[in-house]
Amino acid sequence: MSAIPTELPRYDWFDQLGEDTGLRTRTQLSREGLKPGAGPAAYIYWKRRDALYLLYRLDEAVPKRRCTEAQLAVLRAAREKAERNARTCPICNQVRPYRIYRGTCHECEQQEFDDFLASARNEAALWASNLLQRSDVLFVDFESTSLDGYAVELGILDLGGNVILDTLINPLARIEEGAEAIHGISQAMVASAPTFATLVDRLAFLLHDKIVVAYNSDFDSGLMHREIVRHFGENLRALEWCRKIRWDDAMEPYSAYVGDRSEYHDDFRWQRLGGGHRALGDCRVLLETLQRMAARLTPAALEQSTLG
Ligand SMILES: [Zn+2]
Repeated sequence: MSAIPTELPRYDWFDQLGEDTGLRTRTQLSREGLKPGAGPAAYIYWKRRDALYLLYRLDEAVPKRRCTEAQLAVLRAAREKAERNARTCPICNQVRPYRIYRGTCHECEQQEFDDFLASARNEAALWASNLLQRSDVLFVDFESTSLDGYAVELGILDLGGNVILDTLINPLARIEEGAEAIHGISQAMVASAPTFATLVDRLAFLLHDKIVVAYNSDFDSGLMHREIVRHFGENLRALEWCRKIRWDDAMEPYSAYVGDRSEYHDDFRWQRLGGGHRALGDCRVLLETLQRMAARLTPAALEQSTLG
């Protein structure tokens, strides 16, 4: 058994080499008056005979002794060919003025990225358009006592922009300063507001079996869940109640629609919606945002929607 340089590319026989690899054995180089100019670049291992042939790059080869014009020409041609191969993009087949190290040329890379952005944006526009054509969609936004606290305000808007609900809520809990700084709802403002408990039946009537769109719906669905558990207790009834709402999140599609790629997360940067942080106002901004997104739907994406 010969020592096999396993870190190098391996071929099983000469005919696998084709004519374009630019690889030669030492014997083949010698026939052209050349010798290897660097270490082996690949090898052939002929299993049946346990024969090992090291292969060297022709474009790295150097003349054995003196060079003839013919030898120099062979070398020059090999080097030019290798250089040209290194600058040829495998996707567009264009020869670029630079060597291609990352699989495709810059132009193809940019094109691929642009295509990706366009298709992500279309997908988001399609999502918005599909929602706007339904009859069972509502927009919901909560303001709260804290990030993981209770509700101090709830807004519900329908697709036509009609106010379904717009109410302050007495959270029966302290409003954190940071939260109040954001939405401006003070303890005094909610002192005489209805509690969440008095809204539960109405919310079931309004929201159950509906698609409920929120911006960062994890926040609103989490808050809803906390309120319902506080109301019914941690039990099957609370679970059933919450399960009847079909939440849909607008933050992810909107972020794809804006298309600001985050280098760190290799994903779209989350976008703020820019509402005034009052429940109903945020619902309105959400509705307007979806309308704007749907308006950007391209014919290609529309076609996709009729197919799907
Ligand atoms: Zn290319």
